[in-house]
Amino acid sequence: MDERPEVEPSQAKTEIFAYAHKRGALAVGVADLDAIERIAPPGHRPTDLMPRVKSVIAIGVGGQTQGAWRVPAKAMAYFGSTETRAYSCSYALAFFIESRFRTPSIYCPPDLDNEEGPRIPLQSLKLHAELAGIGARSLAGDILLHPEFGYMYFASVFTELELPADEPLAENPCPAPSCVDMYRRQGRTPCMKFCPVQCLSGKIDAEGRQEEMHYDMAACAEMSQQYEAVPAILADAMGAGDEAGRRDALFDPDNKMLWYKMSVGSGGLLAQCFECMRVCPIATGAELADPIRRARAGR
Ligand code: SF4
Ligand code: SF4
Repeated sequence: MDERPEVEPSQAKTEIFAYAHKRGALAVGVADLDAIERIAPPGHRPTDLMPRVKSVIAIGVGGQTQGAWRVPAKAMAYFGSTETRAYSCSYALAFFIESRFRTPSIYCPPDLDNEEGPRIPLQSLKLHAELAGIGARSLAGDILLHPEFGYMYFASVFTELELPADEPLAENPCPAPSCVDMYRRQGRTPCMKFCPVQCLSGKIDAEGRQEEMHYDMAACAEMSQQYEAVPAILADAMGAGDEAGRRDALFDPDNKMLWYKMSVGSGGLLAQCFECMRVCPIATGAELADPIRRARAGR
């Protein structure tokens, strides 16, 4: 790679943030690399992926349009997620850093670790974003929420460029005051109450802050991440004793939906079901969570 241009780390950070915002990021932050290395388990630390990494940049993009929260769950499951927008923004950002600062950078793969099975990611994008100060863990299964932008999708860039780190958020917007009121009256917050498989529970302390959070990941995954259903269907078909049984296993109307989702590459195969976020006052009601209000603020 060519010689690096002389640029102050804080100036480089300003340019990187400006580029990420131009590409559609709502929030950008730099995580404390030493803290990630301490917290992430061996094999999942940034240096395991990029040995000379100096900075981890986390970006967050907004969720769907405001109108999307009003459609039924079966439609939302197809198009609710905007994670690919986060990935294309961070991919572009990695190229920008290489071309502007002549420094090796990567788009951090958001994928699963092929040596550790379908529930273990290569890296925790959530940890990067949390330490970079662009989201705080909520009572809804640790989904990160931001006080201004609500619910976002996250992606990360690793670079050998040294950048000053940001701090995690000082205040957690979850639980919102209305959720604390509901918890005091009913013993549950909206996300806990309306999760269709009741996989969320927890406690709020006397000051209205999170005390405990429980998330039954397997129950949520069974509801919302269908990629593991595919081999189960194939096993049923292979184990069927006759032609009729095989046909039932493969062409059952519910199973046919999986073939459809696979053929169109639908995010509905691995998205969440969105019901915990649909009722969350931060996800839907934070000042700049609503794209219509964001546009007004921009003007
Ligand atoms: S995504 Fe659906 S199943 Fe999972 S916690 Fe949220 S509401 Fe529950
Ligand atoms: S509904 Fe949202 S703000 Fe309220 S407790 Fe659940 S995640 Fe937190």
